[in-house]
Amino acid sequence: MISHNLQLVSNRIKLACAAADRPSDAVLLLAVAKTFGADAVREAAAWGQFRFGENYVQEALDKMDALADARASGGQALEWHLIGPLQSNKTRPVAERFDWVHSVDRLKIAQRLSEQRPAHLPPLNVLVQVNTSGEESKSGAAPTEVPDLVRAIDALPRLRLRGLMALPAPSPDERAQHAAHHGLKTLFDSLRAEGLPLDTLSMGMSADLEAAIAEGATMVRVGTAIFGGR
Ligand SMILES: *Cc1c(COP(=O)(O)O)cnc(C)c1O
Repeated sequence: MISHNLQLVSNRIKLACAAADRPSDAVLLLAVAKTFGADAVREAAAWGQFRFGENYVQEALDKMDALADARASGGQALEWHLIGPLQSNKTRPVAERFDWVHSVDRLKIAQRLSEQRPAHLPPLNVLVQVNTSGEESKSGAAPTEVPDLVRAIDALPRLRLRGLMALPAPSPDERAQHAAHHGLKTLFDSLRAEGLPLDTLSMGMSADLEAAIAEGATMVRVGTAIFGGR
């Protein structure tokens, strides 16, 4: 089941890249494993998937422990991405165990992650989460705050600033999907034009990955279409 789904998702990504005149390796697949156990991750890894996204810190740490010896087929070590909200009292295990954090939305969190990143590990890859839908309840920095935040994070020694992430309000309307992703891409391009070293635009999920790829996503975060409903 998981192997078949991985095949279907990678075909969707390939088709969307072709439709957008982008090379088929322009978009990386992050498999979002929240609420699924270590066995599901192990099964995906057996088919070559090695990038995994998690929302909840404790759940992720338990899975990492259970999978301490696991490798993807081909020998790749598993790569762990935190994509859920991060509170400042939970930064230490994240700095110590994750490879990427997509959900940095304020400087205090970034400073703590930088201070707590162990010296023997490479710098922690971070994305700034942007609130593109403007809803009060959502996490993410307001688009107007993002340039200053990104510049400040770029100066932190133990972080490697990689780009932006967004989680737009779900919409069945394709035009609304495109508009949300287009807004993030525009912001991404303007920061790159300033010389900031951004190479990753994390947007698009099971339901809207085609729209995200058309608008320039370089990493799509896919849960349901790989592991099933939650
Ligand atoms: C759950 C989640 C996803 C995956 O969503 P699906 O619709 O299951 O593909 C992607 N990004 C974030 C931030 C999530 O919380």
